[in-house]
Amino acid sequence: MSGSATRTLRGARGALLLTIACTACSSGAAKHAVHDRTDFVLGTVAELKVVCASAEEAARALQRAYDELSRIERLASAYIDTSEVGRLALDPSAPLSADTREILRVAREVQDASGGAFCPTLGALLKIWGFPEPAALPDSASVREGVRLSRLPNAALDLGGIAKGYAVDLAAGALAETGSCIVTAGGDLAVRGTRPDGKAWLIGVQDPRDTSRFVVKLRVSGKVSVSTSGDYQRFLMVDGVRYHHILDPSTGWPARGLRSVTVIGPSAVLTDAWSTAAFVLGAQEGLARLEAHPDLEGMLVEEDGAGRLVLHRTSGFSKYEEPNE
Ligand code: AMP
Ligand code: MG
Repeated sequence: MSGSATRTLRGARGALLLTIACTACSSGAAKHAVHDRTDFVLGTVAELKVVCASAEEAARALQRAYDELSRIERLASAYIDTSEVGRLALDPSAPLSADTREILRVAREVQDASGGAFCPTLGALLKIWGFPEPAALPDSASVREGVRLSRLPNAALDLGGIAKGYAVDLAAGALAETGSCIVTAGGDLAVRGTRPDGKAWLIGVQDPRDTSRFVVKLRVSGKVSVSTSGDYQRFLMVDGVRYHHILDPSTGWPARGLRSVTVIGPSAVLTDAWSTAAFVLGAQEGLARLEAHPDLEGMLVEEDGAGRLVLHRTSGFSKYEEPNE
């Protein structure tokens, strides 16, 4: 690869999903207000909000929720040598906590249901690529070797496509003991209940090519999770080609075809894994598998030859959409 002909650029690591602030949405006499906290954890910016009448109680709940995000990061990160996933890479018989076992159980379930598009054993391949901070393209032989290693028994794990969703579920569960809440971490989000004004939470799904805009806005309330996977969060540009972090396990190269996938469902562990899986499957197969899933709705975003976004939705997705004003 000639250095002079290449241009590298790293993606922004901001949120793929944004909570759209509800100004003055505190409710009446009890003064239930939204209390929030923003932290850098799990390799991304996490925003936690809880509805509560007491600032002190809210602060304690936000701390407990943050502790859950941080705890799951320490268990499941492939980049922390002392994490369970890191230790497992050195010793396949290392003991696993109930949390890591649960993440793995869902990962394998989605791996089967997606025909292998979701693959939790890409640890070696992702290291060959140099994610999360790729500096140059790997050569084809190294990529083939990474694919081979990913298929071996005890292959190195990378739970980057699912662990954040699991952590977001736990954080939302912790906040829900205090009040309605919304937790967002990069592309994964979970809500419980409603805003203090009784309305559903309003969420923006970023436009994959103009991240200052939203491609759609969603209204969610109750116990609902939303995840977005995109090609614009971590990537390397080489000679005008985008090499992003969602790899097709059958080739070892970035999955081609889609710009982003948003999945709505009952838990973020499931929506996280499926947004990654559907991204790999592509518009047609991804849409078909999401449509067939009884608990999920999804939207897959493609770009046509003229650079316009083309949206593919499952039949129930639009019921969450806020009409464009
Ligand atoms: P997400 O942003 O949830 O789509 O997850 C992307 C992350 O999942 C990457 O940064 C990798 O850590 C990991 N990953 C990449 N490709 C796959 C895949 N095909 N299956 C499962 N995890 C993947
Ligand atoms: Mg994911």
